[in-house]
Amino acid sequence: MTLSLPIYTRLTPKALSLSLIGFILLVCFSLILATAWQMAQSSGERVDAAKITVSNIVLAAEQQARDTMLQADNTLRDLAERVAHDGSGPDQQERLAKLMARQVNNIEGVQGLFIFDAHGNWMANSFSEGLHTKNNSDRAYFVYHREHDDQSIHIGSIVESRTTGEMVIPISRRIETADGAFAGVALATVPVSYFQSFFKRMDVDDAGVIFLALDNGELLARRPTVAALMTTNLSKGEIFSRYLPQSDSGTAIIKSIVDGIERIYAYRRLAGLPIVAAAGVSYEHVFAPWWSYVYQSVALVGSIILALAFLGNLLYRQIQQLLVAERELKAIRKELEVIAHTDGLTSLANRRNFDLAMDKEWKRATRNQTSISVILLDIDLFKQYNDHYGHLSGDDCLVRVANLIAANVNRPGDIAARYGGEEFVVLLPDTELAGAVVVAENIRLSLLCAKIQHSASPFGIVTISSGVVSTAKTGEENQKEFLIKADRLLYSAKAQGRNRVGS
Ligand code: GH3
Ligand code: MG
Ligand code: MG
Repeated sequence: MTLSLPIYTRLTPKALSLSLIGFILLVCFSLILATAWQMAQSSGERVDAAKITVSNIVLAAEQQARDTMLQADNTLRDLAERVAHDGSGPDQQERLAKLMARQVNNIEGVQGLFIFDAHGNWMANSFSEGLHTKNNSDRAYFVYHREHDDQSIHIGSIVESRTTGEMVIPISRRIETADGAFAGVALATVPVSYFQSFFKRMDVDDAGVIFLALDNGELLARRPTVAALMTTNLSKGEIFSRYLPQSDSGTAIIKSIVDGIERIYAYRRLAGLPIVAAAGVSYEHVFAPWWSYVYQSVALVGSIILALAFLGNLLYRQIQQLLVAERELKAIRKELEVIAHTDGLTSLANRRNFDLAMDKEWKRATRNQTSISVILLDIDLFKQYNDHYGHLSGDDCLVRVANLIAANVNRPGDIAARYGGEEFVVLLPDTELAGAVVVAENIRLSLLCAKIQHSASPFGIVTISSGVVSTAKTGEENQKEFLIKADRLLYSAKAQGRNRVGS
């Protein structure tokens, strides 16, 4: 059994070319798709890895800030209680100053400890030079404590220290008398540079950022530092305006409002403190290796696609050439077949063609018990025609006679052939003798009508004689005898004066 599925049948030339183009396009498309998918994957992985990195940095920054703030607060609470309990006489002030000078060394990051009385005057501080008469009642933290009886830690905006001139973060507590009246403020100052130098050790790129800010958006410390650190407010930035209201910690891809750089950020609100820590690595830094991977992949895939296109083109041309060669071969074979079966001069079937047809029809007639007739024709006095008109005119005459014979042999299955020289044969399958004689007569008469001049003939025109035979239905004869019989009848027609049908 032969399979008739489309894949087992031979494709048409057009389908073959389209299949090749389709195959190459499919390979290219798959390659591009696979590469694009891989790039998308690795881009996602890079973002995820960057998010983990910035989250860890934020955790470290949070830890650092929390430790410093809470230690400072413990010390402030202690100082506030002492002042509330021991009062603020000159002896106490001296003792407090000594205590504060010792304590300031124990709290990492804190630069100075201060106590101000209810009017903002300096009562004691941790600096060894002693007390200078100064007043801090103008400071925002002082005003805050004076006006709020809030007992918790207060972290204020950055101020310029009146002691060191540095930018410091003020951490303060309210001091109260036993009856709850405002008695002053205990203050610890943490230099902004303390956090900034810690941030410097963190692993972010040059365009990366780490910052601590108050939860109202005021910056406390930032890497890289900005000139207007004290006045920079981030409350309008996306972390404060969009993300923190939804969640106390998370990651986000944001364009900075400070420097316009797009970064992958992690942010975190410090529990129990009015501080937000955030860190971001620049998109450019995260994607620099990815882009070089993209360029390499695009170059590689591009080269493969070019090579495929080149090979495809080569194959396509080869297929086209093969198809052209095949078409030419087919045409030549057809031509050869025609040549092998046709007489070159008259275009009638040749002797070989007749022999094959005769053999086939003979067998069929024997098998089916049907008649088969043959007319053997010979142009009369053709030698004289040649001698008189020349061989080339003889050839023309042969062609005209052949055309006349062919015109009288119309039934499908009938064959008119050139038997040799100026002899022709007509094979009439499934035809009785009477029918065949009619055909032979028709040929003879149409030649007479054609009036081909033959001055060397007694008829004055070209005539033809024929011998007609028909098989007996019994199928007793053999083929050779059958044709000999036709030849004999032709001979006797000649003998009887030519231009006649012998049967
Ligand atoms: P008849 O048959 O009437 O007895 O006389 P004839 O002259 O036709 O007899 P014959 O068979 O002796 O002559 C046949 C001639 O046909 C011989 C040859 O010159 C000519 N002949 C055979 N084949 C061709 C051909 O292909 N071209 C031409 N021009 N002449 C041919
Ligand atoms: Mg002859
Ligand atoms: Mg003859």
